[in-house]
Amino acid sequence: MNTPQVFITVDSVRNAIAQRVQELVSQGNARPKVGLVPTMGALHDGHAALLDKARSENDVVVVSVFVNPLQFNDPVDYENYPRQLEADTQLVGAHGADLVFAPAVETMYPGYFSEDNAPQITVSAGHMGTMFEGASRPGHFDGVCTVVTKLWTIHMPPAPATLHSYFGQKDAQQLAILRRTASDLNIPVDIRPVGLVRAPSGLALSSRNMRLDDAGMSSALALSQALHLLRWQAEKGRPLNIDSAQQMIDEDKSITLDYLEVVDPTTLMPLDEDTLAKPLKQEALALVAAYISPVRLIDNMVLPVPSGDSNTQ
Ligand code: AMP
Repeated sequence: MNTPQVFITVDSVRNAIAQRVQELVSQGNARPKVGLVPTMGALHDGHAALLDKARSENDVVVVSVFVNPLQFNDPVDYENYPRQLEADTQLVGAHGADLVFAPAVETMYPGYFSEDNAPQITVSAGHMGTMFEGASRPGHFDGVCTVVTKLWTIHMPPAPATLHSYFGQKDAQQLAILRRTASDLNIPVDIRPVGLVRAPSGLALSSRNMRLDDAGMSSALALSQALHLLRWQAEKGRPLNIDSAQQMIDEDKSITLDYLEVVDPTTLMPLDEDTLAKPLKQEALALVAAYISPVRLIDNMVLPVPSGDSNTQ
């Protein structure tokens, strides 16, 4: 078990990274790799999968823990978001990461609490940021893109080191948008996706699950079950029947469905009826979001191209 160093200022974490890189280079490492895992804390086994992958692929691993006010459109949700830095630091250490960056809001956004309501300059997530999560949470992805761009520039190591940033498939729309952010803004960061981690019940792990009671936990299972039905249909080469999956969710009156859609994984554009009616020719993505009062949950599943056998049935 590591005891990671915790930094709260931009300069201190930058200097620590620069120092580690210098040491590695002087030990003969020609191209040290720095892995960054951005999180909002309240870490669980889903985050741990990101930490483990980052540890296995990098020389230095940094975990940022920052509940980013810019990505919350509901101030109550922001206030209620769980915060537990001490427990998080222990989990980070148990998974072998080296450094934690846990800045205050004022550090990330100087002047945030003044009348200016800084920052003045932000990153726009564009059209992709207005769909699905963005439609229900206006400005959410602008906030995500702004904070992650800042985290990348803060943690960008000096040459010859390279930056690798880890994101979970759990937030599939976020991952797609951040890929575009890096490429559209020419930010030299290698984006590393990590598969979605579920509880044995099938529920996608999320920091928000701790706000569900037992009944809510069991209602929440309808989301992954609906996605499984769509995956089964895709695997068998059957028409993708979104209505039948939606019925599984609608049966539970304590769930308020926001969206259930099958999309192209890169562009996030919904597949048209024709494409849904035929066996998939390329992988698709099923996205779902729902409220189990008042907790908002999201989940998704990759829908595969049917295997040869099912295709010919
Ligand atoms: P968050 O702290 O919720 O902002 O999440 C930080 C990172 O962990 C994001 O890249 C998430 O996609 C990822 N993550 C959260 N939950 C899971 C999960 N169940 N499986 C995989 N990655 C996850």
